[in-house]
Amino acid sequence: MSVIVLVENNGGTIKPKGFEAVQYAAQLAQKMGTTATAVVLGTIAETEMQALGQYGAKRVLHIADERLNNLHARAYTRALVNAAEKENASVVVTLYDLTGRVVAPRVATQLKAGIIAGALSLPDLDKGFVIKKSVFSGKAFGYVNIISNNKVIMLAANTLQVKKGEGAAAVEKLDVAFEAKDFAIVVKEVNKVTGEIPLADAELVVSGGRGLKGPENWGVIEDLARELGAATACSRPVSDADWRPHHEHVGQTGGTIRPNLYIAAGISGAIQHLAGVSGSKTIVVINTDPEAPFFKAANYGVVGDAMQVLPRLTEAVKKF
Ligand code: FAD
Repeated sequence: MSVIVLVENNGGTIKPKGFEAVQYAAQLAQKMGTTATAVVLGTIAETEMQALGQYGAKRVLHIADERLNNLHARAYTRALVNAAEKENASVVVTLYDLTGRVVAPRVATQLKAGIIAGALSLPDLDKGFVIKKSVFSGKAFGYVNIISNNKVIMLAANTLQVKKGEGAAAVEKLDVAFEAKDFAIVVKEVNKVTGEIPLADAELVVSGGRGLKGPENWGVIEDLARELGAATACSRPVSDADWRPHHEHVGQTGGTIRPNLYIAAGISGAIQHLAGVSGSKTIVVINTDPEAPFFKAANYGVVGDAMQVLPRLTEAVKKF
C-alpha cells in the first residue's frame, strides 16, 4: 500500500504544478502510514527529479523512453500502471489538467479504481476516504467517498500551499515494455502564450470581458498583466468575437483556473463564466454596474470604468 504520483516533464523540467502534486501525495502517504513515489516520464536531468525530495517524494521512478516526451495516452497509462504494480500502490495521484484528464481515467479503469476529478482536499481517512470537490459548475462543494481498494485522485491546482523543504529523492530507472500501438495516437498539448505566463500555470490572472468594448482596448489588460507578472484571460463572447484567442477563454466551455488572484474587468459574472474561475483564491471585480452578479463572488470590487481603473491600478503596481 503506497502512493504514486505522476509528475509531468515539461520539456526537460518539472512542470511547476507538479511540486504541488508531489506534496499532496507525500502528505496523503504520511496520513496512510506509507511513502510517496514520483513517476517521471521522458528525457529529463537527474537533478530535476532529485529535487522532488524537497516536496516530500522519497523516490522517483524514471521511465526514460524518449517517446514519452510527448503525451501518449496509452503509453502514459501503461507506464503508470506498471509503476503502480511495482510499488504495490493503492493510490495514484495526477493533476487535474490535460494530461491528468487523458491518463487518469484510463489508469483507473485498468486498476479497477474509483476516481475523483478535481480533488480540493486531502482525504478524510476517519470517514473512509472522503475528498472535497466542487460540483454544479462551482456552485457547491461535494464530499465523495472512494470505497474501492485502489483509488485515483486528480488534484485541482492551488489546493495546497506549496512549501519547499530539504532532501533529495532517490532516482531509479524503470523499464516498461511498451507496444507500438501505445504510440499510435499523439495528443500534443499546445500551450499558447500571449504574454509570458501560460494561463493554466498562472498564479495571477487579469481577465477582460465584453465591457472593454473591443480588442483595441486590451492594452489596459496587458499592461496590468505585465506589471503583475500575470497571465491574461477573457470571457467567452470576447473569444467568440475574435477579440482574443480561444485558449484565453475561461468558464464552463473554456478553461478552469484556480489562481491566487483573478482580476475581472468588464465581465458580468454569468454562472457559465464563474464555473471556470470561482475556485480562485481572491477575486477582484471592476464593473460599471453595481448590480453586476460578479460582485457577489468578489472579495474586492470596484464600481467604475475599467478603462480608467485598470491604468490606475497599473500605475499603483509600478510604484511597488
Ligand atoms: P456581458 O454579459 O456583455 O457583460 C459585460 C459587463 O461589462 C457588464 O456587466 C457591464 O456592466 C460591464 N461593463 C460595461 N462597460 C464597462 C466598463 N467600461 N468598465 C467596466 N465594466 C463595464 N461565458 C464565459 O465567459 N465562459 C464560458 O465558458 C461560457 N460558457 C457558456 C456556455 C453556455 C452553454 C452558455 C449558454 C453560455 C456560456 N457563456 C460563457 C456565456 C455567458 O452566459 C455570458 O454570456 C458571458 O460570460 C458574458 O460575457 P461578459 O461578461 O464578457 O459580457
